[in-house]
Amino acid sequence: IIVSGLVIGMLIIIMAGYYLARRAMVPIQAAWEKQQQFVADASHELRTPLAVIKSNAELMLRHPDHTIEDESIRVTNIVREVRRMTRLVADLLTLARADANQSELQLGAVSLSELVDAVSEQFKPLAQLEGHTLTVAVYEQLELVGDRERLYQLLVILLDNAVKYTPPPGHILITGVRQGSHILLTVEDSGQGIPPEDLPRVFDRFYRGDKARSREKGGTGLGLAIAKWIVEKHGGKIWVESKVGVGTKFSVLLPVKFIKRV
Ligand code: ADP
Repeated sequence: IIVSGLVIGMLIIIMAGYYLARRAMVPIQAAWEKQQQFVADASHELRTPLAVIKSNAELMLRHPDHTIEDESIRVTNIVREVRRMTRLVADLLTLARADANQSELQLGAVSLSELVDAVSEQFKPLAQLEGHTLTVAVYEQLELVGDRERLYQLLVILLDNAVKYTPPPGHILITGVRQGSHILLTVEDSGQGIPPEDLPRVFDRFYRGDKARSREKGGTGLGLAIAKWIVEKHGGKIWVESKVGVGTKFSVLLPVKFIKRV
C-alpha cells in the first residue's frame, strides 16, 4: 500500500509539474512566434525595395547607351527605394532596441505645447501643398517630464499619418489640454477613416489598412507600433476612434510626472 501510494504520489507530482511547465511555456512560445513573424515580415519588407534597386541598377549596367532621361528615371527609382529602406531600417532598429530593453528615455522637462507648435510649423508647408488646413488648438502651457526627441517623433508619426490618409482638401486639428495629473493630446483629421474591423490592428507591427497608399507615401507600417511604444514607455495610453469617410482621431494620455514602467 505504501509503495503504490508513493508511486501514485510521484505520478501526480510529475503530471502536475508537466502541466505547470507546459502552461509556463505558453507565453514564451507566443513571444517566440511573434518574434519569428516580425523577422519574416521585416525580411519581406526589405526584399521589395532591394529588388527594385537591383533591377534598375542592372538595367543601367546592361544598357550604357541609354539616354539621360532613361537613366534619370532609373536613378530616381533607386533613390526612392534607398530612402524607403533607410526609414525602414531606422524603424526596425527603434523597435529592436525597444524589445531588447536597450532604449532608455532621456528624461527632462518638456513643454508639450512648444513641441506641438514646432512640429506643426514643420508640417504646415506639406499640409498646404497637399491642400489641407492644419490647426493647433492648445491654449495653455503643457509641461511634463519626458523624452523630448521621442515625444517629437510621436507627434511626427501622428501628423504624418493624418496628412497621408486625408484626401484634399482636408482639416487636421491638434488639441492639448491638462486633465488633472495627465495631459490629453489629440490629432484629428477629416480623412478616409479606418474600417471598424481594422481598428484593433492599427498599432500592430507592419499592419497596413491601405497598403497601396502606405507604400506610395513611403510608409513602413511601423509608425503606430513605435508611437504606442513611446506612449507606453512614458506611462501613458494611446487609442484611436474613426469613421470611414468622416475621419480619424488619435488620442494620447500622458502623465505629467513620469511613472517608470517595471
Ligand atoms: P504606415 O507606414 O502604413 O502609415 P502606421 O503604423 O503609421 O504605418 O499605420 C498603420 C495603418 O493604420 C496605415 O497603413 C493606415 O491604414 C492606418 N492609419 C494610420 N493613421 C491613419 C489615419 N490618420 N487615417 C486613416 N488611416 C490611418
